[in-house]
Amino acid sequence: MTSNRKRVLSGMQASGRLHLGNYHGALENWVRLQDGYECFFFVADWHALTTLFTEPGKVREFTREVAIDFLACGLDPDKSCIFVQSDVLEHAELFVLLSMLTPVPWLERVPSYKDKQKELADKDLSSLGFLGYPALQAADIAVYRADFVPVGEDQLPHLELTREIVRRFNHLYGEVLVEPKEIVTPTPVLPGLDGRKMSKSYGNAVYLSDEDEVVRKKFSNAVTDPQRMRRKDPGRPEVCNVYAYHKLYTAPARLLEIDAACRSAGIGCVDCKRELVERFFERFGAIRERRRAIAAAPERLGEILKAGAARAQKAAREGMARVREAMRLGWAP
Ligand code: SF4
Repeated sequence: MTSNRKRVLSGMQASGRLHLGNYHGALENWVRLQDGYECFFFVADWHALTTLFTEPGKVREFTREVAIDFLACGLDPDKSCIFVQSDVLEHAELFVLLSMLTPVPWLERVPSYKDKQKELADKDLSSLGFLGYPALQAADIAVYRADFVPVGEDQLPHLELTREIVRRFNHLYGEVLVEPKEIVTPTPVLPGLDGRKMSKSYGNAVYLSDEDEVVRKKFSNAVTDPQRMRRKDPGRPEVCNVYAYHKLYTAPARLLEIDAACRSAGIGCVDCKRELVERFFERFGAIRERRRAIAAAPERLGEILKAGAARAQKAAREGMARVREAMRLGWAP
């Protein structure tokens, strides 16, 4: 699996099960990347602890669920290195070292620092770990000397901070770390079922692991065009959340028909939603089937993650040997 291909790294927090926003915003693209790059994908359980440190049992459960989602969606252990962050201690070692040279104001000005504190106002986010989250991300990337990181537009400030930290390290100790570049994931506009951004904290998400009945219920409760109060009122697909999903899952010709039928009140929202549910099951049927099979074979999942961790450790140890030498760490005769 080693090659001269450029190296890609990305991770997903184990702070919940994965939803359609995670799939279309990241995972779908990762599956494509594994054919052209040497890919490392990890479940970020330490990152999850920044907000769930009082509930470690949940983090373990979500770690398992996210790993299942990775494989079900098509990440292939024969192509990509798939592992759990806390199985590779070198991430933590580099985080400590980068913390020495990362100014606290750099961390405080990352937009998500304040945004998340507002979004999760019921949680205690005053910890050093929460503030240092972007420095841990920098360590996650730099320890593998990753060339590229796939990111959504909203994560670009994090990656820029990684680059700043890497530049500072290289300025102080020599050109050892690699400045990673972004691969921006074209993210379709996928609202939550209530029209806000899809998020676990808002309770408006459809999860890859939701039972069939739950999926049906969620879509049937989705907010549509607020001006379409009665069946005979014409609707506006462009403001309807259900139509936003149709755009992803329904064939173009049928999409045009739905658009016209909605505007002329030729189709009702109940039928329109029912049709969407069918398209959803067509699109995700195989993934959901694979999910069930993987969940039923936990030993196999354990083997895959163990093998992934061993391979990741090897790469991370090579990276750390360079870092230790550059920082003159350890005893030397
Ligand atoms: S008919 Fe479909 S597209 Fe039109 S408002 Fe209802 S759910 Fe939305």
